[in-house]
Amino acid sequence: MFLEDLSQAISSEDAKDQRVAVMIIDLDRFKYINDTLGHDYGDSLLVQVAERLQQFLEKSLLLYSKVYRLGGDEFTLLHLRCSTEKAEQIAKRLVTAFNESFILHNQEFYITPSIGISVYLEQGEDLKTLMRNADTAMYYVKDREKNNYQLFTKDMHQHFYRKMVIEKELRGALEREELELYYQPIVRVETGDIVGVESLLRWHHAELGTISPAEFIPVSEETGLILPLGEWVIREAARQCKSWQEQGHPPVKMGINISVRQLLDKHFVDNVKRLLEEADLEPSLIDLEVTESIAMFDQKVMSDRLHTLKALGVTLSMDDFGTGYSSLSYLTKYPLDTLKIDRSFIQNIEQDENNQAIVASILSMAKHLRLEVTAEGVETEEDYAYLKAANCDKAQGYRIGYPVPARELW
Ligand code: C2E
Ligand code: MG
Ligand code: MG
Repeated sequence: MFLEDLSQAISSEDAKDQRVAVMIIDLDRFKYINDTLGHDYGDSLLVQVAERLQQFLEKSLLLYSKVYRLGGDEFTLLHLRCSTEKAEQIAKRLVTAFNESFILHNQEFYITPSIGISVYLEQGEDLKTLMRNADTAMYYVKDREKNNYQLFTKDMHQHFYRKMVIEKELRGALEREELELYYQPIVRVETGDIVGVESLLRWHHAELGTISPAEFIPVSEETGLILPLGEWVIREAARQCKSWQEQGHPPVKMGINISVRQLLDKHFVDNVKRLLEEADLEPSLIDLEVTESIAMFDQKVMSDRLHTLKALGVTLSMDDFGTGYSSLSYLTKYPLDTLKIDRSFIQNIEQDENNQAIVASILSMAKHLRLEVTAEGVETEEDYAYLKAANCDKAQGYRIGYPVPARELW
């Protein structure tokens, strides 16, 4: 019916003047509800979403719009007499229509939509192109932040193409020895002594140049490549740490970033143990950095895993603290040693009163919980002086040192 209505709409006389908009709506993390709660819940949710979409059109008095279900958790909206501007306004309000929870078997659930839009003629002149482009726009939203909408643009193809190239090339990166660890110093604020370094992965590709971990780590997580890659990082960081010891440098802690995907791997703890034994390295010299995304997973499983890791003798840091929008209850359940305050709260700290309030609260909370605090992204002398006066324990950032190859650190 949708395809019939769409093909009729774009072949009608006034379509060129009045436009026709297609929206493809996919529910974020629907699979999670289906898989963990069962198809009963999933079915009930789909029915309620259909009702909500219908009500949305009615309440908004969108008389020339209709809702359809394409299959699975994909719905479509067809809007006659709808320009690109109007389509974007509708989509914006549609996202907020999902702010209200859904009730499934007496429990409250929140589900968000990812919406891709294409408008006849701007984003396609025939049915196939309109559908394909709305679909691409929807995947683009999913791939980035979710819970949002996007009108199709041509650079989206570029985004997916680059991702595909990165995925393909990353598979050979380990064998071709294109990976390298850089090290960024972490100092104790009071004394200015280097007490640790954070290892940061760099990928030098012959044609693509140096690619940022912010770009290739997410791809490696999606494909599972993070497991061999992460193992290489631990082996290399441990080897480097040992070698500094042998050269007589003062003992510095080696920070290693761990992705949640690695933590969820049931062999992870054994792997860490084996890698540290192979390097003949004292485990207390290793600090594993995890992110708040771990709070999304089963608390018991995650807590057990972190406790067994701690039992090896390593320490644990919460990285990018404050960006995960999660409940803080995990702080008392996970055996953490350090909170690393995200650099967005440190920026311009000597002037930004909001950031001052946030940092002061984190410092006070950490003190009560007997956690140390590292400020990330300390870029200026003024930032540093402010943090020193505020009694922040440790600091890291361009003011102290950039991430550099091992040979340039000392
Ligand atoms: P992160 O763990 O929060 O690392 C800190 C990032 O901030 C690094 O970016 C670092 O270069 C940057 N940075 C340090 N000081 C400053 C500063 O003063 N100002 C500014 N603006 N930035 C600063 P980088 O190296 O691009 O890494 C990005 C992220 O990629 C890391 O964030 C981490 O989440 C991830 N990553 C890096 N290496 C690994 C790895 O070996 N494994 C995993 N799983 N993730 C990694
Ligand atoms: Mg880190
Ligand atoms: Mg960080």
